[in-house]
Parts: sequence; C-alpha cells; structure tokens
Amino acid sequence: MPGFELFGDQERNEVNKVLDSGVLMRYGFDGMRQGQWKALELETALARRMESRYAQVVSSGTAALTVALVSAGVGAGDEVIVPVFTFVASFEAVLAIGAVPVLCDIDDTLTLDPGAVEKLITPRTRVIMPVHMCGSMADLKPLKELCEKHGLVLLEDACQAIGGTYDGKPLGSYGDLGCFSFDYVKTITCGEGGALITNNETYKNNADHYSDHGHDHIGTDRGAESHPFLGYNFRISELNAAVGVAQLGRLDDFISIQKKHYSIIREALSSIDGVTFRRVPEAGEENYSFLNFFLPDENLARKAHKALAEAGIDGCFYWYDNNWHYIRKWDHLKNKESLGKLPREVAEQMPDYHTADFSASDHWMGRNISVLIKLGWEEASVKERAGKMATVIKAVLG
Ligand SMILES: *Cc1c(COP(=O)(O)O)cnc(C)c1O
Repeated sequence: MPGFELFGDQERNEVNKVLDSGVLMRYGFDGMRQGQWKALELETALARRMESRYAQVVSSGTAALTVALVSAGVGAGDEVIVPVFTFVASFEAVLAIGAVPVLCDIDDTLTLDPGAVEKLITPRTRVIMPVHMCGSMADLKPLKELCEKHGLVLLEDACQAIGGTYDGKPLGSYGDLGCFSFDYVKTITCGEGGALITNNETYKNNADHYSDHGHDHIGTDRGAESHPFLGYNFRISELNAAVGVAQLGRLDDFISIQKKHYSIIREALSSIDGVTFRRVPEAGEENYSFLNFFLPDENLARKAHKALAEAGIDGCFYWYDNNWHYIRKWDHLKNKESLGKLPREVAEQMPDYHTADFSASDHWMGRNISVLIKLGWEEASVKERAGKMATVIKAVLG
C-alpha cells in the first residue's frame, strides 16, 4: 500500500514549483504565487478522478472525516454508526464534534454488516459510516437503502481503499460523502493530508468554509472576508498538496502494481485446504492494498501468524490483537479516558462498550490474517514470498 515507497522526481518537481514561488499557503498571496495553486489543483484532479463534483483537500484523513461530518450538519448528541474494525480516527472524528460513536458488528467483508446496522438505528442516528478496511468495501447498496429509508447520511471512510470501486463508481463517491487519507503509509501520500469528495454543493461550501476558520472565500482580501458560521483550521499546506498532485497522477499505476503482487500471493494460498478469503461484495473491486484471508479457527490463525513472522515474512497483521484497529484494545474509548471533560451528550449517551457483545465480529477477526501488499517488491521476490507463505501455512494446518 504505501505510496512513500515510490517517492521520486515527479513529487520533487511539484514541490520545487512551490518552493520557487515561496507561497506555502493555499489561500491568498495571488501576486506572489506564480500561478501555483497546488491544493486547488489537487482538488480539481481528485474530483475528476473520483467522478465527483467536488473535493475538499484538508490536513489529514481524520480532519477530512471531521469536516465531512460537520459539513453535513452533524453535531452534539447525533449518533454515527461506525464499525468495530477500523482505525481509531473514525470514532475520533465523531467524538471531536460531540457526536456519539455507535459501534457496530462487521461481517465476512470485514466491514459493516448491514443487518447489524439496521438494528442500531434510533431517532438520534444521523450517519452510517462504513470503513473500507484494507482495500475492500462494505456492501454499500443495502447501506444506501437504509440511509434513504431513514433519512441518514452515508459517509464512506475510504482512507484505506482509494482506487477501489463499487457498482462501477470509485470508492468514496457512492455515498453522500467520501473521505481519503494521504498520510505517510496510505496508498498515495502527501506526507500528511486528506480529502473529502461529494456531489452536494452545500456540503462542499460548508467544508470549504469550515476547514478555514469559516472564511467565505469571496473576493481577494482575506482580512475583509466574512464568516457566516464558526469554523476551524484544517488547511493543508501547498508543500503537502504538491506531493499529492504527483502521487494522485500515479494512483492507477500503483493500483495495477498492487493487483499484480496481490494476485501472485492469492494464487499461491488459494490451493490450501482451510484457507478462505475475505468476501468482496459482488459489485466491488478492491484496491489490492492488502490480501485478507481466514484460517479455520482462532488458534490456527494465531499459530500461522507467529509462524509467518518466524519464517521472516514481514507485513502480516493479526488485527484481532492490534491496539489501533479493533475494539478489543480500545480501553481508552471504553473507559472514556479523555484529557478534559467530554461533552455531556457523549458521556451520557455512549453505549457501555465493556459489556457489549461483538462475538459476531470476533468470529471473523479472530481467524483473519492480513498481508500488506507493497509497491516496491520485485516480481521474483513476490513469487518467492508467496511460495514460502504457502509452505508455512500448510505446515501449520498439518
Ligand atoms: C489512516 C486512516 C484514517 C485517518 O487518516 P490520517 O490521515 O492518518 O488522519 C482514517 N480512517 C482510516 C480507516 C484510516 O486507515
């Protein structure tokens, strides 16, 4: 997945244009900037690539999720349905605005289970947030139907799945809003950065203003602009955006490299009795940033994960035990450990996650191993890696 593996001349050229102009900020300084508007250029290119009307580039994926929620009018006490398997950023964005994360089971797609989502909808629910973990997507059609039925917003966290598709549409563009991260380990990177996409003009305008202190961006004198509503600073710098411009131009190449490497490893593992793969919804195509497979039970998955590491095969994750990606280790959330007082709505409304039953998710997560697909591998070394992995896993399965 990591775009940083292929950082080179294209990225340097774009950054140098910004350095030559000396304007590191995305707004203002029109006379000095020598025609360089990298954040704007990235927004235009991203919207086009993602077949969406609008994009708003911001300082991180977490910022993108936060701005996306705010732009749709989500606030204190509103409930946002989030999967138990994600990165902590998904619920951080919800908590940051005083909204309440309602955690939900996943299924064999390793993303939101639509049946479980339906059971969690209350009059306070405002958003369903599927997270397309490890390059593959939630079954978005039934989630969209739930949103239409209950008047909810569908917000795709596509931070790990840029370049994948569902129903022929780029991931992130199927819902009302979609978010990407360009942090240093994502498929394409800005160093730090993120973006939201939408077809909704109101959401775009809200995101544009909110991410820059409420500035209405009318006219050419920043100091004289008005502020129709309260905002914040989630701006990206021109230096970061410049890297993003170059990396976005390489996205399709990156996806095809990932697909090639993924396919070699999948082919090697698919002949093993006892290995099954994560379900990719029929309408979808993943971005091939990870290969996810299941072993028959938790014990065998643990053994296989350990044996793969001992055989020197790096980049195999057992998310079930991971501190950052699965509810089992989110004690800070369960205990509501925060530096300052939490908003009353969060303190009072958030379900008690100490006692919640997520055994349906444990069933899949406990058996799952996830292989990071790297861009920098040589084809011969992928084949060798795939063969070695198959041998190790077969030995574990006896
Ligand atoms: C990386 C990531 C984010 C947050 O992105 P940052 O740019 O690191 O803030 C959010 N959600 C998921 C699923 C991610 O993997």
